[in-house]
Amino acid sequence: MPLSATQEDVKSLVDGLHFAEKVERSLGLIREAYEEYGDRLVVANSLGKDSCAVWDLAKRVSPDIRGFIVTTRFKPKETVQFMNEEVARHPELKVFRNDESIPEKLYETDPDMCCDILKVQPTRQAIEEMNVGCWVTGLRCTEGRTRTDFQEIEERDVGLLKLNPILIWHEREVWEYLALNQVPVNPLYAKGYRSLGCEPCTHISSDPDERAGRWIGTSKCGGECGIHTRPLKVSYQI
Ligand code: SF4
Repeated sequence: MPLSATQEDVKSLVDGLHFAEKVERSLGLIREAYEEYGDRLVVANSLGKDSCAVWDLAKRVSPDIRGFIVTTRFKPKETVQFMNEEVARHPELKVFRNDESIPEKLYETDPDMCCDILKVQPTRQAIEEMNVGCWVTGLRCTEGRTRTDFQEIEERDVGLLKLNPILIWHEREVWEYLALNQVPVNPLYAKGYRSLGCEPCTHISSDPDERAGRWIGTSKCGGECGIHTRPLKVSYQI
């Protein structure tokens, strides 16, 4: 399965493969990319359930694979605690954070700008500083309305491959994987959250859309922070 031949019909794969086939496919995608990119393959670990699954898959391919976490001043204390535990378990996880001053409650007045400053910019920094050629994400096409058009392998920035190895997994398959492999997860899931982000912008929701609890009451409701939609190579910033 060469990297260049994976622009398949994503929707047919979502329901056409069973759980074990998806796990094998995901491992194969990471393995193949790692063979090509080596140390320049880096996992973006958001500390959410999907990232936890991808991080575990990557560690099965090679314990040497590196990762980065982008955190913000607004992360819930449970997420900060979980981050500290993950970094203690895996020192090859590097944390990035932007501490520059921003207007008070920018997350209410301009959440796009807030995410751009606190999330997108540190992601760009991580990609630059870690010399990333291929970044690996936990993005899934069944997560919500904004995630239906992605591919397993993308090159949105010239010279930066993006691998979405669990793109075709359902939410229940992520939990199946985490449970079967006893992968630690953020304790906020036990409280009812389904999608995790910064505290002011994340709520518990019973809406069928998995990301419906994100940015409620703003133009960004159920949307994206920008790391999957904005240019990430520093030389291509707009
Ligand atoms: S999720 Fe909310 S608080 Fe966090 S960076 Fe985005 S707008 Fe700001």
